[in-house]
Amino acid sequence: MSVIWMNGKLVAPQQATVSIFDHGVLYGDGVFEGLRQYHGRVFRLSDHIKRLYASARAIRLEIPYSPEAIKTAIEETLQANKLVDSYIRLVVTRGGGSLDISPATCGTPGVFIIAGSIAMYPEDTYRQGMAIITASTPRIAAAALSPRIKSLNYLNNIMAKWEAIDAGVAEAVMLNHLGFVCECTADNIFIVRDGQLITPAEESGILLGVTRSVVLELAAKAEIPTRQTNLTRYDLYTADECFLTGTGAEIVPVVDVDKRLIGDGKPGAITRQLTQAFHDYVRTV
Ligand code: PMP
Repeated sequence: MSVIWMNGKLVAPQQATVSIFDHGVLYGDGVFEGLRQYHGRVFRLSDHIKRLYASARAIRLEIPYSPEAIKTAIEETLQANKLVDSYIRLVVTRGGGSLDISPATCGTPGVFIIAGSIAMYPEDTYRQGMAIITASTPRIAAAALSPRIKSLNYLNNIMAKWEAIDAGVAEAVMLNHLGFVCECTADNIFIVRDGQLITPAEESGILLGVTRSVVLELAAKAEIPTRQTNLTRYDLYTADECFLTGTGAEIVPVVDVDKRLIGDGKPGAITRQLTQAFHDYVRTV
């Protein structure tokens, strides 16, 4: 049974409980990170910690530990669970408060870390690629709540995920209020066109994924030209290649978007090249 880091202590899962008065539960008021450990090392730890603190700052949530203390807590959790390859969930909740929405009534924010195995897509999906749909649920506009905040409020994405489930596919890509492509419910999206790697820009209204930035770096190293810009559904339908990126999923080829076959319906050459580069990279850093 795994051991959970909870507010400064390592406890058994049964003891790792959150108050029903915590606004993380009552209002989805909080922030989180999903991290990966490869061969004993936490991948891009500083990037995740930086994003966590930025998310917290954006919602006026003061994490009651220093970034260094959080890093140590992650290491402690991994050691206690004797893990070398794992998925780590780091969550900060607003803390217990009154029943009304005011975050000012809340006490100390709660912090917990769960580390365990990762449920990635089946092996076949990586070999053959997946089908996705575009969701009718738009991504929340940056003016309403910045998609750059990795908050506990995933209802927008969950509504799009229902659409994927109903359509019998694994993922749904969300568009912004102008109809430009943003990202999938828990992954960023890339296409390849005429040898160029293209992904929605920050201005499209996306979470700036850690895997997304690693893939852009690896492409630059491999001298694959990259571009971050607005994309429409037309760009997805006519792409030579398409893939998703995320900490849990890594790089997943997409071969079908709204029943349009992408390329020849098989994972593309650049997708496979970047996947290999990614696997090599995570083993060396
Ligand atoms: N977009 C959304 C909405 C996400 O939740 C995630 C994280 N799973 C991503 C993109 C990918 O980000 P990262 O590569 O940092 O995991």
